[in-house]
Amino acid sequence: MPEPRPLRFFNSLTRAIEPLSPIAPPAVSLYCCGPTVYNYAHIGNLRTYVFEDLLQRVIRSAGYDLHHVMNITDVGHLQSDADDGDDKMMLAAMREQRSPWDIARFYEDEFFRHTDMLGIVRPDTVCRATEHIPQMIRMIETLIKRGHAYSVDGNVYFDTSTFPTYADFARLRMDAQEATERVDEDTRKRNPQDFVLWFSQSKYPNQIMKWDSPWGTGFPGWHIECSAMATTYLSETIDIHCGGIDHITVHHTNEIAQSECCFGHRWVNTWLHGEFLVVDDAKMSKSTGDFLHLDRLVEAGYEPMDYRYLLLTGHYRARLSFSFDALDGARQALKTLRNLMHDWSYAARESDAVRDDHITDWREEFWEELANDLHIPNALAVAWKMARDTNLAPAEKLTLMSGFDDILGLDLATVNESRALTDDLMALIRQREDARENRDWVTADAIRDDLLAKGVIIKDRTDGTDWELVR
Ligand code: AMP
Ligand code: ZN
Repeated sequence: MPEPRPLRFFNSLTRAIEPLSPIAPPAVSLYCCGPTVYNYAHIGNLRTYVFEDLLQRVIRSAGYDLHHVMNITDVGHLQSDADDGDDKMMLAAMREQRSPWDIARFYEDEFFRHTDMLGIVRPDTVCRATEHIPQMIRMIETLIKRGHAYSVDGNVYFDTSTFPTYADFARLRMDAQEATERVDEDTRKRNPQDFVLWFSQSKYPNQIMKWDSPWGTGFPGWHIECSAMATTYLSETIDIHCGGIDHITVHHTNEIAQSECCFGHRWVNTWLHGEFLVVDDAKMSKSTGDFLHLDRLVEAGYEPMDYRYLLLTGHYRARLSFSFDALDGARQALKTLRNLMHDWSYAARESDAVRDDHITDWREEFWEELANDLHIPNALAVAWKMARDTNLAPAEKLTLMSGFDDILGLDLATVNESRALTDDLMALIRQREDARENRDWVTADAIRDDLLAKGVIIKDRTDGTDWELVR
């Protein structure tokens, strides 16, 4: 097996771009925080999953043997990412008059329906929080035994004062605003930043999702879910952990604290965080009810891949503004790329050889952008530059672009509806091209009129024929 190719990523832990150096190459372990399944994923959430999809494609394509794990949060996530507010699953159950179990399964299915529509490859392992309660309880027991957690009235809290580097990951100033913003009114806590590992004190007398534990019947805190499941399927040290940027200050800070105190060593080597998608410069929130999800874009006449294209135009560490104007631009660009692919496949003759020396440099240039902190927008620009290279034969362009699409995931081989001609019509276009080559203008014009009568408009270009099906 050849050595995997080097990759560099911005590590939120060190705030620097570093080479990826897996613990046991070619194996790479990747854990991604999954959706909280109390509603549809909004298009902002989906940006994070497209980023993680691109990441896993690049890691595999570099030659690593990747194990990609994602959880489903189907219990324990309160309205705030800290310990206050209502239980998101219970709120949804009341809103929709269904049991939280039904809510969870329904929105989990909807989540995967949407990610499939966007060409997001499903993780190797998908694990539900509700199916890993014993693993969470065991971790909490270890934390208590080691003096990092305490129970009060059936709730178990992580004692942040026992982890002196608690504030380091998010560069929190614990005496200042970030800390006070996070303080809730739970007087059982020893320190204001302590967080719940196990809730036996539910706000709801009829709490439906609950399990027995050594501390009382209840449910786990959100943060412990990820630590327990990541360890179950990967190991006590993980190569890469991902999530949206909002997770740095609370969720990932807490995951690090409890995992490192439980295992006694560094838990994750590389942290990658995706920036937000913003609409009118505001954070999108699925708990506010009225939000954009993928079906809304489809109802408005867009293809899911138009949205994926839009996401590829922004680097994952930069904010991206969503607007329908931007989506229109993405739709047009995608349509053009697919038309080009179709033209090349039509123009490429079986006998055309693909010259290695012609395509290697383009492949390298594309790859360099991917390997450099997943610079998909630059890689996309390389793809466009290649498409305009007059030294390349159609067969070469086709080969290159198909390879690029293994990473971009845009289904570029799909033929736009307005281009999809029957074999008979395609044969007519070819006959007309032959006639034009022979300077037989009379035949060429007759075929053009025939095509027009059949609903195909012909536009001559210097390098071939463009056409559009108008009915
Ligand atoms: P949730 O289902 O709320 O737990 O969030 C799922 C994922 O979406 C998490 O990784 C969040 O960090 C991420 N996320 C939430 N809002 C946005 C947004 N506006 N843009 C990009 N990612 C987001
Ligand atoms: Zn998580």
